[in-house]
Amino acid sequence: MKQRIQQRILRFQLVETLSRIWPYLKQERRRLLLVAAATLGLTVVELSIPILVGGSGERLLSELSGRQPTTAPVLDNRTIIALLAVGALLRGYLLYQQRSLSGQTGQRVAARMRDALWVHLQKMPLEYTRRRGPGRLLVRFISDTKAVQRLVSQGMVQLIQDVLVVIGVIAVLTYLNLLVGLGTILLLPLVALIFWRMNPRVQKASRDTRHRRTRLSAYMNERLTGLAAVKIHGRQREEAKRARKLNRKVASRGGRLASAGAQLQGASAGAVALVTTLTLALAAEEVAAGRLSAGYLVTSYALIGLLAPIVQRITIFNRTLQEAQISVERLAQTLAEEPESPQEAELPEVELSEGLVSVEGVSFSYPDGTLALEDVSLTARRGELVALVGPNGAGKSTLLELLPRFRQPSNGRIVIDGQDTAAVSLESLRSNIGFVTQDTPLFDGTITENVTYGMRGDASEASEEQIRQAARLAGVDELVASLPEGWETKVSEGRRMLSRGQRQRVVLARALAADPPIIVLDEVGSALDIETQRTLAEQLRMLAQHKTVILATHSMPAMLMADRVYKMEGGRIVEEDRDEAVLTRLEGA
Ligand code: ADP
Ligand code: MG
Repeated sequence: MKQRIQQRILRFQLVETLSRIWPYLKQERRRLLLVAAATLGLTVVELSIPILVGGSGERLLSELSGRQPTTAPVLDNRTIIALLAVGALLRGYLLYQQRSLSGQTGQRVAARMRDALWVHLQKMPLEYTRRRGPGRLLVRFISDTKAVQRLVSQGMVQLIQDVLVVIGVIAVLTYLNLLVGLGTILLLPLVALIFWRMNPRVQKASRDTRHRRTRLSAYMNERLTGLAAVKIHGRQREEAKRARKLNRKVASRGGRLASAGAQLQGASAGAVALVTTLTLALAAEEVAAGRLSAGYLVTSYALIGLLAPIVQRITIFNRTLQEAQISVERLAQTLAEEPESPQEAELPEVELSEGLVSVEGVSFSYPDGTLALEDVSLTARRGELVALVGPNGAGKSTLLELLPRFRQPSNGRIVIDGQDTAAVSLESLRSNIGFVTQDTPLFDGTITENVTYGMRGDASEASEEQIRQAARLAGVDELVASLPEGWETKVSEGRRMLSRGQRQRVVLARALAADPPIIVLDEVGSALDIETQRTLAEQLRMLAQHKTVILATHSMPAMLMADRVYKMEGGRIVEEDRDEAVLTRLEGA
């Protein structure tokens, strides 16, 4: 019960949400202080206008009727009018300050959250991002941080100002006349009751809508990426149907949200109208009884009039808060997830000497239970070209991904020059491994930028030679020579300037340019023509003279060139051959 009440009351949500945003907000303390000052100023101006108007009215009325003013106004009319003019100008200025400062604060808080999220996502295991898919993560990135931004820029400041104004209105009214003041106070429990009753529906609808929207964007992201498959199979009509279904769900949940929100708004508007009528009646009685001066009746009217828009704003703010709360919750959940190497800073760097990689009795199961590797052992050393062969699904890619520890073995260990890879810093381990798969992407940029992507420090004189050598090995020099813009040709996944095989060469050059002592290639030759495969195999053979090279391949030239071939099947190594044996068998076949 207690928990339910907590959930239902606006204030608790706000405190919780703000406490989660606070780490990103606290650097903005100076700006926040200025916003607070502007807000306070605005409140004072907002409240003093009706008081001044009432004072002026009271003075006029008393002068006309020749009676003593009930509450003596100290200022004459000219001063009051001058003050009203100043107040109007001040109001404009303060409003500008408040809005622009809070707007900037919101933007900066959202940017800081995106930074944190990005840093964190990069630390997560590959499995994490693969499982969620880029669609979902992007929604989180953009819309969640935006909801927080909206809360900080608009909602929060407005709420604080509104609360201050409500307190002010009640205080001034009570000061002018106790009964009228008490009448207004009635509004508070009434609105609280309405929120307590109706807000849970708004909350639920808001959550559902967001959830459905995320599903729709994830779906569209996937289908847009695979649009060619949709077209070739002629599934546009079915996909349109599916999208329509998802879309209607968004609309129906959104409609539910609109109706729940409107209910809340309507009920609050009704409550305000009732309370206003009541207090106005009370005020009229009090004037008649001589306990409230006629001039200040104007003040009461004006002050009570301030309440209606405030209550409406609070119902809207409620929505902003809801969205932000869901977002902040999701962001907090994401950020709380354990990174792939929690103790990274304390782990020693891996030291390479012989370049001896040994996989010792390794088994691996995917989180869904698929046993992909079973008691696999193999060694690769500098000076040897090692090839993994075997049918699709044999476990080659899985095994290769264990080397840079994109995954952890369930059993057994992987040792590099006597050091268990599980006990060294991931960063140092990966900086020693060049890793290329058949679908490693290019990034938006020139060929030069892509090839030098993995090079540490700046591309200085010393590395110039390294780049040329990598380019030669990967056959990128040839490619570059055939392009009118050469090294400066812009390539990107989106534009498809290059063929698949050409892209593979650039990606390979990128791995080689960083000059890592261990090279791991997963079916990299697959998109190359047979002539290029042969050249590549020869190049790899040469490369293997001073590096440890492990490749999974279906390429015949590569198999022939290998010093050692491991044949895999169903997650096990079923055969290990020296090159002579392979050659003999192939010749025999
Ligand atoms: P290969 O590279 O030899 O073709 P893989 O290493 O990609 O084989 O796959 C080995 C086995 O693991 C296959 O049975 C495949 O279905 C399974 N597998 C691969 N990736 C995953 C994954 N992310 N989740 C569950 N099972 C997977
Ligand atoms: Mg594979």
